[in-house]
Amino acid sequence: MRWPRFLPLLLLAVAADLLGADSLRYRIAIISWAEKTQSSRNLEELAARRALQAMGIPYDLVPVSKLQSRYPLAILPGPLYNHSLSPVEREAVHAFVSSGGLLLATQVEGSDYFPLFGISSALPRRDRFRVRFLSDVEDGWLRYLDHPKEREISLGDPKLFNETIWTVGYQSRYGRPLAKYPDGKAAAVVNDYDSGQALALGFSLTQTVLLAHVVSTFEAGRQWVNSFEPSGDAILLLMKGIYENTADCALSWHTVPRGLETSIVLSHDVDAQESFGNTVAYAQLEKHYGVQSTFFINTKTLTDESDIGYYDAARIPFLIEIRQLGFELGSHSVSHSKKFNKFPMGTALITAATYQPAKSPTVLGEVKVSKELLDRDLPRQKTVSFRAGELRYPPRLIEALELSGYQYDSTASANNIITNFPFFAFAGTHLGARETAIVEIPVTLDDSLGFLTPERQDAVVQAWCEVIEANRANGATTCILIHPTNTTYKLAVLKRLLERYAKQDVWIGSIAQLGDFWTRRATVEFRAETTGDTLVLHLNQEMEKLSGDLSIVVSGNKGSSRFQVLDSSGKTVPYHLLERSGKKLLLLSPKK
Ligand SMILES: [Zn+2]
Repeated sequence: MRWPRFLPLLLLAVAADLLGADSLRYRIAIISWAEKTQSSRNLEELAARRALQAMGIPYDLVPVSKLQSRYPLAILPGPLYNHSLSPVEREAVHAFVSSGGLLLATQVEGSDYFPLFGISSALPRRDRFRVRFLSDVEDGWLRYLDHPKEREISLGDPKLFNETIWTVGYQSRYGRPLAKYPDGKAAAVVNDYDSGQALALGFSLTQTVLLAHVVSTFEAGRQWVNSFEPSGDAILLLMKGIYENTADCALSWHTVPRGLETSIVLSHDVDAQESFGNTVAYAQLEKHYGVQSTFFINTKTLTDESDIGYYDAARIPFLIEIRQLGFELGSHSVSHSKKFNKFPMGTALITAATYQPAKSPTVLGEVKVSKELLDRDLPRQKTVSFRAGELRYPPRLIEALELSGYQYDSTASANNIITNFPFFAFAGTHLGARETAIVEIPVTLDDSLGFLTPERQDAVVQAWCEVIEANRANGATTCILIHPTNTTYKLAVLKRLLERYAKQDVWIGSIAQLGDFWTRRATVEFRAETTGDTLVLHLNQEMEKLSGDLSIVVSGNKGSSRFQVLDSSGKTVPYHLLERSGKKLLLLSPKK
């Protein structure tokens, strides 16, 4: 299925052009390479779209010839060589900057463009493993990079690789460096040019944002789990900081449901004999705090060297009980094999009756048969979430999930893929793979492998809360995994977290709940205009289809003190006005 979420946006773009609306400069132009065939630039365009989509920032895909001053900021997806643009296109880019726009280009290598970006040389290399952001020379651009791990980010692990992603290092001439590599070259330079500015980034969005989304990062994560790893998020937050300080009025879809500050996803992998009976205590505790979680069930029907086939008639009644308490049950595969990522894909015709996990295990067998068993054995069950045993990620995992009817995956490690935001997964683990509608919610915190012990409860709560707070500052997600192997100290740690966060402005819920929010968020769009002192937001959906957990963030708003939200047929959509750290949030409250 082709993901259609850009269609409404394009239609609205056309409509706005016809109406001549949008005197407000609040949208980013991504300069589109649609007419060209250079695949690296098309990938960079995709990466730019996904970076802005993650941050909820409104954008249009614009051919370079249509670049207009109504865009405060334009992204030119690189690499930019001397021959990349025709003379007419080159003129349009210069004119955009001269008339006051901010041009952000990635991987500027063509010397003809050095004067525009205020640089004197550009040197591509593959052995730069770190980027350090400098003091905030452009007021506010780096405001979100306030954590030490955001100030210095990782581009790969030099202990494991001789070479990592391509980076371009600049020598600045007139421009001001925003970030540097260990070799002293600038990783980002901003230059004043006539009335506007030009910013050259040395790293591509493809090899930072997009590589993370195909779960392939040169092991850039500085730890495997249980720590804060924002190396990819820093790029998204850089874009957000630049946008908010460039637009007349910065408007974005908030990243957390109900306008809250951060999201915590609770998950439990049920993959041991004793864990099945314990699930009820976990569900009851969470229900007491008014929140839901996801129990990932290992439907192990075969006895092997690791354990008995514990998905049986003695244990399934516990799962029925937590299902009746309203909790989500996801699949945690059939075999829970360490070799899952090496399994052949297999056939989508496989069923529980024909699958032989011991003899001929396959990716599709693990994914599809576990869902079949859960859907068969539990009341009103439709399994939509998956997490692989041992977090093993086969290259075609997402394709297998699509073929089996899943909607969400939580197999990637947030530390490993250096991002703490959900994203739409790709069908394969290589650049150029097809985008899918499956939402990936990476795991951040994991109790296993001796991390959470009776003695370490205080240390674990402290370490986990530090990660949650760091993600909170970014509006990002923390996905917690607690294996319910006992109902003593592990349950006590969960209770301490719930006690602390359930009463705060923090969203807590299941994989499917957050995945559903992320999916719906991607289908709505707005156009903004000002009428007198009122900022009017036109949505692309009818009120009946809107959900009540979406919110629009307004910051740097000049002039408008009142807001009006209209649905696609012009009906007024009620909202709650929230104030968060100097910004206004319009939490939509559609009438049904
Ligand atoms: Zn497991």
